[in-house]
Amino acid sequence: MKKGVIVLLSLLLLCAAGQVSASYAGARDPGLEQRLDTILGINLLARDREALSLVLRALNDQTPTATLARAKAYQALAQAIQDNEPAAAIALLDALSNEPEIAQDPHALAELSNARGEIYLHTQNRDALRHYLGELKDQSIAEPKLYFHRLHLIARSYDLLHDYEQALTYLLRAHEMVASIQDEQQQRRRQFINLHIGRTYARLRHFDSARQSLDKTIAESNRLGVTEYLPELHMVRGFVIQVTEGPNAAAEADFLKATTPVRGEPVGRTQMLAFNNLGTLKLHTGQYAAAEQYFSQGIEIAHQIDNSFELHIMRFNQGYVMVKQGGYEQGLSIMEAAFADFSQVAPPGTQADMLNYLADAYETAHRLERALGVLRQQLELRETAHRAERERTLAELQVQHDAQEASLRIQLLEQESALREAKIAEQQRNQYWVILLSSILFVALALSLFAARYVRQLNRQLSKANQELTELSHRDPLTQLYNRRALAGFSEQHGDLLVLFDLDKFKGINDQFGHDVGDQVLQSVSQRVKAVLRTEDLLVRWGGEEFLVVIRRINELGLDVIKAKLHSAIVHSPFADITVNASGGAVFLQGQTSTWQSAIKRADELLYQAKANGRARILLEHNGEVQTWQMREAPPENS
Ligand code: GH3
Ligand code: MG
Ligand code: MG
Repeated sequence: MKKGVIVLLSLLLLCAAGQVSASYAGARDPGLEQRLDTILGINLLARDREALSLVLRALNDQTPTATLARAKAYQALAQAIQDNEPAAAIALLDALSNEPEIAQDPHALAELSNARGEIYLHTQNRDALRHYLGELKDQSIAEPKLYFHRLHLIARSYDLLHDYEQALTYLLRAHEMVASIQDEQQQRRRQFINLHIGRTYARLRHFDSARQSLDKTIAESNRLGVTEYLPELHMVRGFVIQVTEGPNAAAEADFLKATTPVRGEPVGRTQMLAFNNLGTLKLHTGQYAAAEQYFSQGIEIAHQIDNSFELHIMRFNQGYVMVKQGGYEQGLSIMEAAFADFSQVAPPGTQADMLNYLADAYETAHRLERALGVLRQQLELRETAHRAERERTLAELQVQHDAQEASLRIQLLEQESALREAKIAEQQRNQYWVILLSSILFVALALSLFAARYVRQLNRQLSKANQELTELSHRDPLTQLYNRRALAGFSEQHGDLLVLFDLDKFKGINDQFGHDVGDQVLQSVSQRVKAVLRTEDLLVRWGGEEFLVVIRRINELGLDVIKAKLHSAIVHSPFADITVNASGGAVFLQGQTSTWQSAIKRADELLYQAKANGRARILLEHNGEVQTWQMREAPPENS
């Protein structure tokens, strides 16, 4: 889920970035921009320093940062290239890119970075460029023109660093972009990129591709009248022809065309190189006078544009031509002097190449020993160059290795953190399940505890109700005594006395006093008998006016006590003037009458017999004999 949020956030940021760029694309001062468009000429030389100063003076608080940065970048370029103060120019660019408003505007920053790259390029500061390339490639630029500039700046940087494959890649990308910038400069841009593509093919020794591209571009330039790059295009084509076909007329024609500057532009580097190439071509074809002439013209321009590197080469070449023409002394001394100067500015490899000609010149002048010395010097230079090259390659390999190691380390760290995140996510998932399951368990436990309690409570209620029901069903509603059913709940105890008695002539009481009074008599008899019994003894309403008494642990009381108790309870005093008497049978719970059933049956027989014998008595069977307990209080009145 976190990842989803991050993806969404980056999408939002991308949208926001797009909007920011879009708004900056418009945030330029059109008037100032138009004036800036006309200031830089070929090779970024400010054609008109005065115009640049005017633009710089026109800048104010209201100037959009991108326009301001572009103007200041031009100022830095003029300072570096024309005033030859590259360090001060870089310092200016540094200070500008740290200004808060510029630092927030990607296009202002890109203007400054492009200028810095151009300065490194112009001063051939390979080390600085090598380090700065990463930053140049990293910046994203929305404005097409700025981005186009960035792409060919990177391409030209790779060219300076001799990485022609990369240079070609960026040139082709820049070429693709040309079509998307539709203004009056479009064709000029196309020519510019095509020129560099042709040159890069030539450097990669893809001479066929170079020739094709250059032929097409030169034809197009002439057709469209876009002539700005024609001298350079011709010069590169002349070089390609010379390499592939030898020093022929076609190559010469191209070099000659390159010696004419574009209308309105001063004579410059291209013209100088063209004269050098023409001189070399003539030299190779043995036309020494013409060669010397061309070298002189080249030397003149080199002085004008203050290009000492090419100046020494051409002086050297001129000396060589002199030697070839027989002017040994003069020629050789010019060559020695030129080489001495050249060795101050050129790398060992290039120096070694030149020594070929010096050795040849000594040989031509019959100074074989000197020639040998030069060849030895050349060998040393080659070794130095080789060592330097090896060290440079090793250093580059080391840099590459470090970069690879760093990226591997980053990858590793990324993987580790991804793993950590995955682990955390899994832990969270597990925690979630643990919490969920324990919550479920807890709820289930609580529910089951609750249910158990509820069931227990229900059970208690049920059993209470059951007890109550049982109690109810075991009680006689009128007297509240146990009824016949209750007896099953009591166990027979050996030796206990069981007495079954029936009220005499009760029907008569009912008849005489009413049924309600009969009820009251039954209740009173019940209470009186209960009152004389102990708690462990039993009194049961056996049915109607018939009662059952069970006397527990009879030995503790004795039979006389029982007899007296029953007598006093039933017979002794009348119930509201109503005399009551009873007849009954009594047996011990032992022997043949040790169960309720057998004992009651026998007691019933005795009761029946007591009725028959005259009522008001209890017949007690004891040790096989039947005793009579007279219950009559006074002599009978009515029997
Ligand atoms: P005996 O001496 O032969 O037992 O004569 P008796 O009249 O008592 O016997 P009988 O069996 O002829 O009559 C029993 C009477 O008891 C009949 C009945 O109406 C009365 N009786 C039974 N149960 C109740 C009762 O709960 N209340 C009232 N008031 N009378 C009852
Ligand atoms: Mg009866
Ligand atoms: Mg009766």
